[in-house]
Amino acid sequence: MNHFHYRGGQLLAEGVAIDDIARHVGTPFYCYSTATLARHFTVFQDALAQAGLDATVCFALKANPNLAVVRTLAQLGAGADVVSEGELRRALRAGIPPERIVFSGVGKTRHELEFAVAKGIFQINVESEPELRALSEIAAARGVRMPIALRVNPDVDAGTHAKITTGKKENKFGIEWTRAHEVFTRARALPGIEVMGIACHIGSQLTEIEPFQAAFQRVRDLVAILRADGFNIRRLDLGGGLGVPYDGETPPSPADYAKAIAATLGDLGCRIIVEPGRLLVGNAGILVSRVVYVKEGATRTFVIVDAAMNDLIRPAMYEAHHGILPVTEPAAGAPLLPVDVVGPVCETGDTFARQRPLPPLSEGDLIAFTTAGAYGAAMASMYNARPLVPEVLVKGDDYAIVRARPDFEDMIALESTPDWMGG
Ligand SMILES: *Cc1c(COP(=O)(O)O)cnc(C)c1O
Repeated sequence: MNHFHYRGGQLLAEGVAIDDIARHVGTPFYCYSTATLARHFTVFQDALAQAGLDATVCFALKANPNLAVVRTLAQLGAGADVVSEGELRRALRAGIPPERIVFSGVGKTRHELEFAVAKGIFQINVESEPELRALSEIAAARGVRMPIALRVNPDVDAGTHAKITTGKKENKFGIEWTRAHEVFTRARALPGIEVMGIACHIGSQLTEIEPFQAAFQRVRDLVAILRADGFNIRRLDLGGGLGVPYDGETPPSPADYAKAIAATLGDLGCRIIVEPGRLLVGNAGILVSRVVYVKEGATRTFVIVDAAMNDLIRPAMYEAHHGILPVTEPAAGAPLLPVDVVGPVCETGDTFARQRPLPPLSEGDLIAFTTAGAYGAAMASMYNARPLVPEVLVKGDDYAIVRARPDFEDMIALESTPDWMGG
């Protein structure tokens, strides 16, 4: 469900014509819908409440750290899951209170830990023994005990793309399942640490409920073991990972997901934390691009557009599928012909779609890549010295540029040539 639709033959974001934004902002650009963000957040939060869970929804900023997007969710009551000092600063700037922020990540530096402790955030999800020792030292030096969860790796196959599977024992994340009890025992002995609970995140873009159920069951088993040993386990952070439809997939609904949590963990009296990223923002964004040329190759037609892999890397990185909509609605019965939709970057991987059946497209036409709100702008780069793609947020009949397109001077402003090179 999203608020991008055709009206009067034109693609709109809520009440705003994409064509109007393109004329004002230029292409390519990301466009987000406030109503869609709000709907996703509300449906998800309501599902948890209806399942009887005392749950805090911490938006995983890495999916879309744009300040206006985060603030939209913050105003609806979202907390944040951050994985770097930069994300933590953004979450705070967007108005998320420290007591609703959790800090995840396998390689938090001492500097980052110090910053998080100083800000008094809700919880740090610790992923290793060296991190545990570092954090204890830092917190103890400040005379505090930092609330933590230990992230365990449940060795469950999420059944998703290898690059976004995180819960197998060969993945770098979390503490090995079989050693969890031992590490909890060490944590308990450290002066700067207050063990609050267990964290677990098995991967992203999950389209089946079973891997979640298997992971939650392991968490349940661990709660029993730890409680029997006197640990006061009162928080369970279940990570993110719920998938969205890109190409006809049918991921579990928020209600199914909430029921799976309630069925496995609901009776433990723990506060539940969930960290959805993609689910909240994926469908709430599109990437708008203009056709530069249509080139007839020897065996196929290439539609060359002005967006590229540096703007949206998911197809190149994860073989991901994004829907493609012409911004001008195709005539009923328009023929669909297979084309390759490619960007201008000098890499064969700069291909958005191969042999995709699309209605006829010509130079100057606008297209929209759908479901681009998660891991789109967030992963953009300046490869090929292309400016970072701007971002626009729509609300009703209104829109605002929420990240401007840098000009070429901005892009090189941080660089300089050493004196020895002269002028
Ligand atoms: C990436 C990540 C998330 C969010 O994942 P989604 O698939 O976008 O929901 C949540 N928690 C942690 C620890 C992550 O690394």
